[in-house]
Amino acid sequence: MPELPEVETIARGLAARVSGDVIESIWLGEKPEPLKSSAQEIAAAVEHTRILTVRRMGKHIVFDLQPAKLARKAASTQVTAQWIVHLGMTGRMLVCDARSEILKHTHAIAKLDSGRELRFVDPRRFGRLSVAAAGNFETAGTEPLEAEVDRFIALFRGRKTPIKSALLNQKLLRGVGNIYADESLFRTGIRPRRRAASITREQLAKLLLSIKEVLREAIVLGGSSVSDYVGADGQEGFFQLQHRVYGREGESCLVCKTPIKRVVIAGRSSHYCPKCQR
Ligand SMILES: [Zn+2]
Repeated sequence: MPELPEVETIARGLAARVSGDVIESIWLGEKPEPLKSSAQEIAAAVEHTRILTVRRMGKHIVFDLQPAKLARKAASTQVTAQWIVHLGMTGRMLVCDARSEILKHTHAIAKLDSGRELRFVDPRRFGRLSVAAAGNFETAGTEPLEAEVDRFIALFRGRKTPIKSALLNQKLLRGVGNIYADESLFRTGIRPRRRAASITREQLAKLLLSIKEVLREAIVLGGSSVSDYVGADGQEGFFQLQHRVYGREGESCLVCKTPIKRVVIAGRSSHYCPKCQR
């Protein structure tokens, strides 16, 4: 499942390809699951609009739109509607030549003024398409890459849950998934089962730096594969993070050679070094 760095990478790739282009029309498939807004609402919001930009909000891809006519008249940056895509487990947004073969499990095709098409393909149909009026789309939680230290520390005050569970709680932080939580805790020397409330301000400040570091590194690594990911060939292109603990149960710690342990916390695998993390 794509996590924050993957979605960021995909959103940047889409922004580079389709910003400034105009959506002339949209075709939506008959499967009901991908449509969180109705087909009529989606068509009304996105047809004849210019794509101002594409960005990530939490784990959503957001297309900021304005009427194509308005954009032609003046260099306005006013967003009048938003097209929101959640990739779910297997969703992909492809930028294709209109003549390229339509893949099975294509649920939406937006025809662009440039002659290309934006296609949403999702075999398992956990992905969601929706629209919102200007700037109305909001997601819960704090954006980890933009979080300030005091705000971050306040999220965990008095929380008796393990820090690992708190990091995965999307109402607190947006988009931090299992891999990035484990890797950040390792870099900070905190055990995943530690109660959030028992962690000092200094350690939490360090944890925030680790989270930002891990996410940024992953985004940089993802950059190399994004062109494949959103390319016409539809090839998968998730980056491979240099994991230090995640998925390394029984292997030796890269710092102290102690075997990495795996425990299950709130139903999710957690990996840590029993010597480096306290
Ligand atoms: Zn270690």
